Amino acid sequence: MALTEAVQDYLEKLFWFEEAGIEPTQANLARGMNVSQPSVNEMVRRLVDDGLVERDERKRLHFTAHGREVAQKVVSRHRLIEAFLTTVFKIPWDEVHEEAHTFEHAISDSLEQRMYALLADATACPHGHPIGGHPREAGEPMSLVPRNSVVRLLRFENEDPDLLRLFRRSGLEPGDRYILLAASEGHVAFAPADADGDDGKAELPIPVAGTLSVRVEERGDGPAATATPQTGAQAALLGETAWGM
Ligand SMILES: [Zn+2]
Ligand SMILES: [Zn+2]
Repeated sequence: MALTEAVQDYLEKLFWFEEAGIEPTQANLARGMNVSQPSVNEMVRRLVDDGLVERDERKRLHFTAHGREVAQKVVSRHRLIEAFLTTVFKIPWDEVHEEAHTFEHAISDSLEQRMYALLADATACPHGHPIGGHPREAGEPMSLVPRNSVVRLLRFENEDPDLLRLFRRSGLEPGDRYILLAASEGHVAFAPADADGDDGKAELPIPVAGTLSVRVEERGDGPAATATPQTGAQAALLGETAWGM
């Protein structure tokens, strides 16, 4: 069955929701896709008719086995293309998400296989999201982690282009270690863990820092920037336009 680009995009978004633990409701889907509720309703009817998703009694959406298989393939291809563009073409990682989104609908299975062979050691996209069956470590939103903690950045949960540019300007690299520092009101501050004092210190608004998943390697004794969990996973994938930047 040939799937339209729109169908693939919806499956991709639902797969991200499932990974991040975001409730797969039609309302969240409308926000995540940045489209109107009626368009979502229409597309969901089609996904159900095509046997790709099912609606439960609370109208949440769940993949069928076939739907999940297709979604995983689309998502994996997107991440592989991102890894290819950064590794082979040396395109900065804050530019590849949009490029990959265009490419992912255009490449053949055999080109995908060749790209994968060329990047035999690629386990994740340049933003930290696992490719294929590679495991995804849950992590914690950076905004909920106590000050003075040392963390390793696992992922940018939201690949919104404006956010990615901001993360790059802030000196963040997935896989690197950071120490959490005292911040101004409503912000999270950090510096590279091996830096001298405050060298390389940067600050992000709490909802933005809530989209960074980290592994806590040494838990600090200070307060967290916020105790409100919705700045974490819920903020991660929804189509917010104002990030307080
Ligand atoms: Zn992406
Ligand atoms: Zn990515």
